[in-house]
Amino acid sequence: MTAEEALRRRWGYDSFRPLQREAIDAALAGRDSLVVLPTGGGKSLCYQLPAAMGKGLVLVVSPLIALMDDQVAAAREAGLVADALHSNLETDHKSDAYRRLERGETELLYLSPERLLIGDALEDAAGRLVLVAVDEAHCVSHWGHEFRPEYRRLIEVLDRFPNAARMALTATATPPVQDDIVAQLGLRDPLRLIGHPDRPNLAYRAFPRRDQSAQVLDVVRRHPGEGGIVYAQTRKDVERLAAGLQAHGVSCAAYHAGLPADERRRAQDGFVRESIDVVVATIAFGMGIDRSNVRFVVHANTPKSVEHYQQESGRAGRDGLPAECVLLFAASDLALHRGLALKDGGLAPDRRQALERQLRDIGRYAVSPLCRHRLLAEHFGAPYPVAPQGTESCDACDVCLGETKGLPPEEALLTAKKVLSAAWRAEGRFGTGYVVNLLLGKAEERMRRHGHDTLKVFGLLKEAGEGAVRSWIDQLVVQGMLETVEIGEYPLLRITEAGKALCRDEGAVRLGVPAPPAARGKKAKRPARVAAGSPEPDEALFDKLRALRKQLADRQGVPPYLVFHDSALVEMAAAKPRTLDALRGVKGVGEKKLERYGAAFLAAIAGGD
Ligand code: ADP
Repeated sequence: MTAEEALRRRWGYDSFRPLQREAIDAALAGRDSLVVLPTGGGKSLCYQLPAAMGKGLVLVVSPLIALMDDQVAAAREAGLVADALHSNLETDHKSDAYRRLERGETELLYLSPERLLIGDALEDAAGRLVLVAVDEAHCVSHWGHEFRPEYRRLIEVLDRFPNAARMALTATATPPVQDDIVAQLGLRDPLRLIGHPDRPNLAYRAFPRRDQSAQVLDVVRRHPGEGGIVYAQTRKDVERLAAGLQAHGVSCAAYHAGLPADERRRAQDGFVRESIDVVVATIAFGMGIDRSNVRFVVHANTPKSVEHYQQESGRAGRDGLPAECVLLFAASDLALHRGLALKDGGLAPDRRQALERQLRDIGRYAVSPLCRHRLLAEHFGAPYPVAPQGTESCDACDVCLGETKGLPPEEALLTAKKVLSAAWRAEGRFGTGYVVNLLLGKAEERMRRHGHDTLKVFGLLKEAGEGAVRSWIDQLVVQGMLETVEIGEYPLLRITEAGKALCRDEGAVRLGVPAPPAARGKKAKRPARVAAGSPEPDEALFDKLRALRKQLADRQGVPPYLVFHDSALVEMAAAKPRTLDALRGVKGVGEKKLERYGAAFLAAIAGGD
């Protein structure tokens, strides 16, 4: 069987995604590789397909125990002999897995790093081992965003199997993290397969946070009946936002570490099984979630870094269909992150520097009036547009869609100078609200007392409105021209040296204006699900197939996306195949699935007109 045949027969796909073929060929030739592909890029196939070729055992090291069982179930759906060994496994399943391993039947084995380090699992199988795949490989790097000490010890075990090829996989790795992975896992002259980090099916939006609940509801309402995740910073925020959505009739659950385990499990299972549409959660939620048809991810607070953002927002649209990622930004979130990171004493100078860089970068991402696909791609060291002859506009972010507009350079400079002079005149003795009121010409008692209502800057930006002025202050903080300092009870706003320089016309600044929320609440309609030129899916039939999928999945106790992805249902609802042969032509319908589900879906399609 060739790799193409395996792809067709086992998975029902007719071509490889970018770099999959190269990764598979390297593995089959016994060569080490580093595979960096964005979420949804198809990393699992890079090691699952070699396992399906019958050459020996493929071992997968993954820190996500919660995901392993789903991965095993998915691999078995493709007809592989797959098992997982981890601490949550029931004893029966464990002994079955060991038995298959001893008999040399296992083709694909998932292990947690802790389990691998114990070392007992592999004694009998060592001779058959052809490939060790290390998933989420960025965890090995200090420079990454999820360092795990046990990953550093993997090399000890890997070195015991010199004949097995090594494959390190991750979705997010800047060039220094890539180098660190190669060094820490001892990859030997690895083939570096670095995919483009862009996710073209995701529409990115970043807006200043004004009215958190209303802004979140706005996004949720654009996706009726669809799956989505809302991330919030604190448990209190989570509960408040979830209650707000429930009050508006949204099928929604809260998830955070302070809730009882069974409540958390109910939220997670309900979401994965599609009986709950929206989960409002702290970032504790999501690591183990592989639901492929998440249609939106909202960050109600600013995440800790661009890496975190890429990973958390990346949970949207794994099936390749359009999805939306919205970030609600406030500069105060960055101060909060800094405060938490420094809470237990200081950080070593290099960690402190890394922290400041991370906060600055995510702030820039959130407020720069530049294409967000470009900002993300460039952060990960990749050029944008993806293809050299590509168009400048991505048509899939608030800036390119005209929802956030950049001010022309002269106007930006003039506006910035007005804001900076107000902060300067306030002498760093007041908070943001005071400076906002000064610029808006709202005299408060304190202001009169200090004679600030007679300053030239008083009321200088009255026409712009509070939303825009606050957003400009945030934008100037992110660009290093203003800073907030915590002295006493309230954070004070202060001009920096760079800000003073700009007032002397030294340096450059960019400012944007977000469209007022009222102008954005459009389109309750479902986003397009198909590429231009393909037949439109029959929406009613799609809903019917989705219900059938849920019924079949519930009966087997597996998540619906393991039966078929939304993309396969969309294709069925458009092409309306009438025979098993025609159904086989739909992407994602392999032999096993055809046998198992084909008749039921054909019947639904036949009755669907
Ligand atoms: P990642 O781990 O990189 O986030 P996955 O391995 O979960 O991505 O794959 C994402 C989705 O893409 C899965 O639904 C998978 O079945 C699908 N997929 C993988 N390879 C192909 C391919 N060659 N053609 C079509 N779909 C694919």
